[in-house]
Amino acid sequence: MGLPLPIRIAIVGLGKIARDQHLPALAANPTFNLVAIASPHNQLDGLPCYANLQRLLREQPEVNAVSLCTTPQVRYEAALQALRHGCHVLLEKPPGVTVSEVQSLVSVARDKNVTLFASWHSRHARAVEPARQWLAGRKILQITVNWKEDVRVWHPGQKWIWEAGGLGVFDPGINALSILTRIIRANWFLKEALMSFPANCATPIAAQLQLHCSEGVPVTVNLDFLQTGRQTWDIEVETDAGRLTLSMGGTQMFIDSKAVDIAQTDEYPNLYRHFADLISQHQIDVDLAPLQLVADAFLCGRRTEVAPFVE
Ligand code: NAP
Repeated sequence: MGLPLPIRIAIVGLGKIARDQHLPALAANPTFNLVAIASPHNQLDGLPCYANLQRLLREQPEVNAVSLCTTPQVRYEAALQALRHGCHVLLEKPPGVTVSEVQSLVSVARDKNVTLFASWHSRHARAVEPARQWLAGRKILQITVNWKEDVRVWHPGQKWIWEAGGLGVFDPGINALSILTRIIRANWFLKEALMSFPANCATPIAAQLQLHCSEGVPVTVNLDFLQTGRQTWDIEVETDAGRLTLSMGGTQMFIDSKAVDIAQTDEYPNLYRHFADLISQHQIDVDLAPLQLVADAFLCGRRTEVAPFVE
């Protein structure tokens, strides 16, 4: 039986990404009607706001979907509550702090016959699908990822990034991994990782990974959170038919340095269209490959201690 439209959705965690992307994407999508917010310290004018999801669901039991835009460390509990209530759930990235907690959410979603969408917003960037299509059938020779940004510019005051489960430089870096694992079909796995941990932080500020996608293909991923000046979110793939470059987080594409014309679409509107499709079919979309690669880096990577991070 189809869900009556519009879908009554609530946002949990009214922070930077909720305000920058989720609010405008929802406002522009008539399939959804944003009806409430749950956030411990933030409110949105004109909408009922609650300090937590439990209270929200008690006061507004008719909510039928939630977007979890919280810090990753509290996502599991909120997801579990929402799924048990019978809500369709969108998880911001990363979908959880461990692979196993997200797997357990998948079983709950199956039992309740509701949608669980572990969203990877970068996969919805406009050049990602054209890149995937261009690479299909081509022989990959080498891959280099440079994902380097200034944490002080992009994540001011976000202490949770430096706490266990906050991922440090993998918070943006996992976006690169989400694109890589989407544009190249392979049995991706981690071969080596070297991570730099500030003396006062539980998560790394820089990392270099060597990945395996197919025999003999060197794949190097360079992640840096202290990049000043030009910021880079680039993936370069050398193939037997030329070099593909995905730039600016998957929004621009070049073949042998020549720009490719790409239709103008945006990540979060695309992401919510996909969520609506999943809900209409009660489907689950959870791909844990990017989180697994990060988990493996924490599992077997070498660590060096570097200077404390001071914002
Ligand atoms: P943020 O600005 O620090 O916001 C996180 C929000 O989580 C806070 O506003 C906080 O609400 C809320 N929160 C914390 N505990 C909560 C709880 N128990 N219940 C409900 N809400 C709770 O962080 P952000 O940048 O928006 O990032 C949030 C997530 O989105 C992260 O996983 C991040 O990787 C992802 N993301 C971020 C970006 C970006 O550009 N920033 C882009 C894509 C994805 P209160 O302030 O009310 O306490």
